[in-house]
Amino acid sequence: MPSLLEFTQTELAQWLEDELGEKRFRSQQIFQWLWQKLARDFAQMSNVSQQTRQLLAEKASIPWPKLVTVQKSQDATTKFLLEFSDGARVETVLIPSEDHTGRIRWTQCLSSQIGCPMACTFCATGQSGFTRNMTAGEILSQVLIGRDYLGDTRPDHPIVRNLVFMGMGEPLMNTQALLKALAILNDPHGLAFSPRRITVSTCGIKDGLEKLGQAGLSFLAVSLHAPNQAIREKIMPRAAKLPLKELLTALRNYPLKNREHITFEYLLLRDVNDSPAQAHELAKIVHSVHGKLNLIVYNATNGPYQAPSPERVLAFEKALWSHHLTAIVRQSKGQDIDAACGQLKARFDNG
Ligand code: SAH
Repeated sequence: MPSLLEFTQTELAQWLEDELGEKRFRSQQIFQWLWQKLARDFAQMSNVSQQTRQLLAEKASIPWPKLVTVQKSQDATTKFLLEFSDGARVETVLIPSEDHTGRIRWTQCLSSQIGCPMACTFCATGQSGFTRNMTAGEILSQVLIGRDYLGDTRPDHPIVRNLVFMGMGEPLMNTQALLKALAILNDPHGLAFSPRRITVSTCGIKDGLEKLGQAGLSFLAVSLHAPNQAIREKIMPRAAKLPLKELLTALRNYPLKNREHITFEYLLLRDVNDSPAQAHELAKIVHSVHGKLNLIVYNATNGPYQAPSPERVLAFEKALWSHHLTAIVRQSKGQDIDAACGQLKARFDNG
């Protein structure tokens, strides 16, 4: 039985015509029920005829994941542990921030795979292995759970403002499902997020970068984490199979919209990549693709690393300033519940 969460609006229209003998335009109403009114039951779809609802119930499903746990951090960051029908578990995180008027806005951090095949040495997800890809519907069901939790059902006044693919998994190792999810996210009758409100973060997969660029449905962030190929190989050996030089060439060719920039993420690891000399090297890379830079201070995992001291971080920033490069130091939230960058692993033991 097909899951309606796996269909783009066009696919849904086709399916309605082929399987139910319905008019194609019905797909718009049904789409809105699924993604905007958070319907989990066909009986809720009050502007759809009784007969069609019954047929839908016989021939299709709306499989929301099971919400296993919700953990709330002292800083209000909220982590959800979800379980799909095959028992696979994944985490998604809602991160609060205040806008300029002092109102709370939420960013949702989404996972794209169950586990991750990249095995970066500093990342808890990478260290706990790879189970399988998520489907487009599974990826999007995280947004449904987040919206449901916050009561976010008015697309004209969204409560979840931004989505970042920075949870578990490497989105560009699951490009097909990612692109379909982005299409449904971008659909005004679907989840109605414009490309400017979505960021896909990747360690840099050549083929995936090309497809993502062509689609133009999101912003791009790249987990760089090293100022040269040698260090990158050491700390993220699988990602570094695409040599830094080739990665940078791919990024220079990446199609950007007006005033759009690629964001580099650089994880500071004490005595590994946090020296002022390395900051100078990094600055050249960032400038060479006209990128922006976010610094992330290492969050503790079981890995062999430590975070640099605040003084050391400042010295790194100062070295960047000498190249007229201002980096945003990303505030880590939700550390007390293991919800910060690199800490997601959907633990079975305490779940
Ligand atoms: N695989 C994608 C999506 C994950 S994004 C990517 O690599 O971009 C999660 C971000 O958190 C990445 O930039 C990742 O490198 C970073 N990260 C991983 N482990 C971390 C840790 N222990 N502390 C802080 N950031 C970490």
